Amino acid sequence: MKSNNFWVRFTSNRLPVFVGAGFVATLIVSRFSLMDQYVELVAMYVGINIILALSLNIVNGYMGEFSVGHAGFMAVGAYGASVLSVKILPAGVWVFPVAIVAGGLLAAAAAVVVAIPSFKTRGDYLAIVTLSFNMIVKSVLENIDAVGGPRGFLGMEKLTTLPWVFAWTVASVWAVRNFVYSNIGRGVLSIREDEMAGEAMGVDTQKVKLQAFVISSFFAGVAGGLYAHLLQFISPRSFDILKSTEILIMVYLGGVGSIAGSIAGAVIYTVLIEALRVLGQWRMVIMPLMLVILMIFRPKGIFGYTEFSWFKPATAKKREGAAIMSHQPLRQVETGGLLAIDGLTHYFGGLCALSDFNLRLSAGQILGVIGPNGSGKTTLFNLISGYYKPTQGSISVHGAELTRLRPNEINALGIARTFQNIRLFNNLTVEDNVKIGMFGSAGYNASGALLRTRRFKQCERDMSEHAQELLELFALDRYRAEPAKNLPYGLKRRLEIVRALATRPALLLLDEPAAGMNPAETGALMELVQRIRDDFKLTIMVIEHHMSFIMGLCETIRVLDFGVTIAAGTADEIKNDKKVIEAYLGSSGARNYKTGGNS
Ligand code: ADP
Ligand code: MG
Repeated sequence: MKSNNFWVRFTSNRLPVFVGAGFVATLIVSRFSLMDQYVELVAMYVGINIILALSLNIVNGYMGEFSVGHAGFMAVGAYGASVLSVKILPAGVWVFPVAIVAGGLLAAAAAVVVAIPSFKTRGDYLAIVTLSFNMIVKSVLENIDAVGGPRGFLGMEKLTTLPWVFAWTVASVWAVRNFVYSNIGRGVLSIREDEMAGEAMGVDTQKVKLQAFVISSFFAGVAGGLYAHLLQFISPRSFDILKSTEILIMVYLGGVGSIAGSIAGAVIYTVLIEALRVLGQWRMVIMPLMLVILMIFRPKGIFGYTEFSWFKPATAKKREGAAIMSHQPLRQVETGGLLAIDGLTHYFGGLCALSDFNLRLSAGQILGVIGPNGSGKTTLFNLISGYYKPTQGSISVHGAELTRLRPNEINALGIARTFQNIRLFNNLTVEDNVKIGMFGSAGYNASGALLRTRRFKQCERDMSEHAQELLELFALDRYRAEPAKNLPYGLKRRLEIVRALATRPALLLLDEPAAGMNPAETGALMELVQRIRDDFKLTIMVIEHHMSFIMGLCETIRVLDFGVTIAAGTADEIKNDKKVIEAYLGSSGARNYKTGGNS
């Protein structure tokens, strides 16, 4: 697991040689029957199970969703490939690979059907849908006579051999690795880490979920095809809930969100299950029991999120004299109206959190929003960034109406935000946090990621360079490879701003950026925000309690109290406003009003 380990350094750049040698070895072993037949069979199970574990890991480990009916997709692939090879395709050398790929594609198509209802809703729904899917597939297969119904389907040739399994396993590991370490893969991770923050940074979470689920199912289908042509017999019972559970066990045993983990889980599970055969039916008690024990001591599996260096692509080095990227916003308005809000009102049940809010914001302005706790400031930001749909009123940016758009679509129009309670992608590196901010500007698609095309590499290199520049600009570059959760508090706040800037917004919403900071830190943050406005040509709305911060930075200020705008104007106007003083120091005076930034 250590990256500077001698063995890893020795092997990593020779990996293609090792893989090639391994493949030749399997060819020889298989051709001259050098391996005990039983051992060879188990080895092939291991390979197929690695593909299955990787496949489920995309959804359950990397994405953090919970799919429990993966054997359903395996069944679709197995039956699809078998029907093709037995009944449809003319005999020939290409039958096998074509059937396997077709089985994978069929499973992927089934995934689209399953995903559409499940990803519209949140949470545990996917578990229920995939479980149902698994049962439906089984019942449907039992009722199709053409594939043998409950008796099962046979007649496949034994086309699955050790070299084929080896090749498919290596190809799957390679493709899954490419996917995971791509723009879409980072989108997948953002869903696991903090879906809401991912959307705010422009990740089209619905699309990413669909892509991940479809790709995952493709590999489950491939594994199904290999399995069918190994056993030469499949029946609906081969793909019941028990099979799905086996795949779950492998993933959670080896490690969620780790390729090394999937491989380890598949190897350990397959070998142990064979070794425990001596115990008869008791092994089905012992394995799950072991899993429970493991869950208690290592809930994320043996590897957890840790990845073996082999499975990480080399990070792009900065090119000498590389062109400096533009930090300008994607869409920029030179002058005049950027944001227009009219009659914006929001109710939570009977509580009016924001009432008839109106605003015209011009490009280049810094607007402060203040008000006691619970006065509706964050609600305003949540409405602008699309988390809440307003009860009434309209919001438009560059003249485009926002209220019906999803957060990622609003981000694409040039609005980025930070959160009152920092919402970084904690388990991801500082660099990946920033790169997720660039999600929307990556110039390649899922197939480019899977196959590691030249375009993919170019775009990834550009993104790495751009991220590096941003991190250097904000003095975060020495934490580049550090998980975000390890940063000191002040730097977490700063990273959140940098991540928002990476989306290249025209309007930046900062929700209490100085919260929890001391006067020195607050002063530094003020300079930073000023600099961002000037260098990045941004318009900024900032919520703060530190009055020195607001008064020193903002051209205009809005004051909210119980959702109502009670004052608007320059710092001096606000300071002397009766209503404002009343709101802060009056009847509800205990609510915080920090004058010096020192309190
Ligand atoms: P501020 O950011 O100014 O402190 P908020 O916008 O967070 O205030 O909250 C405004 C009011 O709306 C408060 O009374 C708060 O309790 C309420 N509120 C905020 N979010 C929700 C929610 N998701 N559900 C119900 N009430 C909420
Ligand atoms: Mg708030």
